[in-house]
Formats: sequence, C-alpha cells, structure tokens
Amino acid sequence: MNIHEYQGKEILRKYGVSVPNGHVAYTVDEAVEAAKQLGTKVSVVKAQIHAGGRGKAGGVKIAKNLDEVRTYADEILGKTLVTHQTGPEGKEVKRLLIEEGCDIKEEYYVGLVLDRATSRVTMMASEEGGTEIEEVAEKNPEKIFKEVIDPVVGLTAFQARRLAFNINIPTEYLSKTVKFMLGLYQAFVEKDCSIAEINPLVTTGDGEVLALDAKLNFDDNAIFRQKEISQYRDFDEEDAKEIEASKFDLSYVALDGNIGCMVNGAGLAMATMDIIKHSGGDPANFLDVGGGATAEKVTEAFKIILSDKNVKGILVNIFGGIMKCDIIAEGVVAATKQVGLEIPLVVRLEGTNVDLGKKILAESGLNITAAESMADGAEKIVSLVK
Ligand code: ADP
Ligand code: MG
Repeated sequence: MNIHEYQGKEILRKYGVSVPNGHVAYTVDEAVEAAKQLGTKVSVVKAQIHAGGRGKAGGVKIAKNLDEVRTYADEILGKTLVTHQTGPEGKEVKRLLIEEGCDIKEEYYVGLVLDRATSRVTMMASEEGGTEIEEVAEKNPEKIFKEVIDPVVGLTAFQARRLAFNINIPTEYLSKTVKFMLGLYQAFVEKDCSIAEINPLVTTGDGEVLALDAKLNFDDNAIFRQKEISQYRDFDEEDAKEIEASKFDLSYVALDGNIGCMVNGAGLAMATMDIIKHSGGDPANFLDVGGGATAEKVTEAFKIILSDKNVKGILVNIFGGIMKCDIIAEGVVAATKQVGLEIPLVVRLEGTNVDLGKKILAESGLNITAAESMADGAEKIVSLVK
C-alpha cells in the first residue's frame, strides 16, 4: 500500500525524523490559508499523488508570496501530472501539500528496502540526492553505500555514522543525520514498511537535517495490524477495478493488455499470462479467484474483467482441485446473464467436476470456444481478439 508524501511526513515526525512544517490543502483557498498559517517567507506548493518525479513534471513550485501560492495552487490542482512513475496516462492532482520553503545546502538520498538477496532490511545512502536513484545506480553505482541491518540488533549508531561519513555529510550535521537514520529505521520496522525513501534528505542553512520528500510503502499483508496506516488509504489513487476486487477478496491486478484472464491459483495465473504473451497476446489482468471461491465470487470476478473497456476477449483457465469446475461454470453463466457477453470467451477446464462444468457451459447457450490445453486456449483467444 502506498500513501501520500504529507502522510508519510506525519508518520516520520512521530519518530523524531525532522520534516518541514506543512499542511494539506484540497482547494485553492485552503492552500492560501495554509501558507498564511505557515507564515514563512517562501512556501512550496507540492502536488500530492502516489508517484515521484513531480518536480520535473511541474508539480512542485516555490512561491514567494501568497499571490504566487494562489497562482500555483490553481495551476496544479486538477491538473493531470505525467511523471516517469505515473505511466503515460498520468495522475490527476486532488490534494496539495503547502510546505515551508527550506534553505537547502545539500541534497542527499537515504532509503530503506528489504533486500531479497540477503533477506535483510538494508539502508542505502548517496550524496547524489534529488536525482533519480535508479540513474545513480546505473551510472555511478560506487556513489551508493549500503548497510545490511541485523534484525535482532537493528540499525546501529555505528552503521548510521559510517553511512553519513561515506556520503560526506559535514561533521556539524553528523549527530542529527544519525538520529534521522535511526528514526527512519524505527518507523520502517514498526509500521511494516516495504520501502521508505527520502529523496532528498537535505542539510539546511540553519543547521537542520530534514526529509524534504518522503515515500513510504507498506506491506499489504500487515495492514490488518496497522489501523493508523489503513486510514491513509486514498481510493482516488487506486484502480477502480482493483478496489472492487479487494471487496470480494479477489487477487486482481489490472494490466494494460486486452485479454481478460480468470484463473484459479496464483502460479497458474502467472503461467496463463506467460502463455498468452508467448502466443503473441497481452493479458489485461492478473486474477486468482482462489481455492474456495463461491459462484457469487466468480460472478463478481467475471464482472470486473468485463468492466475493463480494453478487454476484447476472455480466457478462463481452471484446474479444478479444491475449486470445482461447475462452480466456475455457474459463475461465468450468472455473470454473463447479468451484464451480457459480446466478446469471445475461451474456456479451458480440467479437474474436479469437469464434465458437470462443461455441461453447464454447453447448455447455457453462450458462445464459448472450448480449449483442450493451456497452449490451445491461449492460441485460440489470441487469434479471436486479432
Ligand atoms: P519529486 O521527487 O516528486 O520530484 P520532491 O519532494 O523530491 O518531489 O521535490 C523536488 C525538489 O523540489 C526537491 O529535490 C527540492 O529541491 C525541491 N523542494 C521540495 N520541497 C521543498 C521545500 N519544502 N523547500 C525547498 N525546496 C523544496
Ligand atoms: Mg523526491
């Protein structure tokens, strides 16, 4: 799960990680009011979307007076920002962060991720802050320093100091940087983060060490015990189809292809997407209906697939183990009765109650193309949508 920058900063503040003062605003008037309350000479108007790269895309503006705050807020609110992280369709800005302007001396990068190679949380830091870290990793990998963190001991002050030295933090900022890194690590662990990225961390003219940006992602599997974090969820930032799927406890991920997939089991769902690609097609989604799905759940899943305007054909690929083929067939028939079916449907059924499932589909009057194997199903749906 992803949250906004201003929300991430609220969390970090509680862990002793310094952030600039700021307020969220949903309208131009609120933005001006927020800047008035800050009372600083310079304020920054920042688009709040679940994507980075806002600065380059015109989503971060420095305002020198209240009139400029009004102008920039008006310009950014409602605008569709296209950054290297939003995809070409961009994201509409519905919230702003109005923040005090900082007297930046230097910009650095600090991030925490779970390193899958070592199975440990790893802190990364670089003096190449402000720029995309992916670019630094590619062109100047020697400028990224890492500390692998022992889960029992946690990040030690020694490790934080070593990182700070490696990225050339001036000594007068050293103790504040160490405190910053330790607080960031504590927040990461206690809040079940999967990513915590501060780009940039800045040193300021008045001796502060601040998080000027904050990107926090959370492990979805831990949200049940993170009530505070779950309140930060912003449905405007999520795919409507994925929200609908999560209501029915379906594992659904929207993709940009045109072949809808309904599959049981995550592994089979991945393999189905692969074989569609292999046959020259593009999957429109990942969907695992799960093992114990009811006909109602299958119906909802099918409706979600059909609600995607890009979908030009559907491949149902079921291996009936715990899931029974007749339940899938009933769901498919029920959904098409409710919403209609004007696109090709290829079904491959195998396993428990397969004959009953095939019978239900055959008697439904629906125009279904039967497939004998996964490869056969993929080839058939790809040629039908072409
Ligand atoms: P993004 O990473 O999405 O582009 P950032 O929050 O990192 O957004 O902002 C981009 C740049 O804007 C920063 O690197 C910094 O130079 C400047 N900036 C952001 N917030 C402030 C602030 N409060 N005061 C001064 N400059 C800022
Ligand atoms: Mg940034």
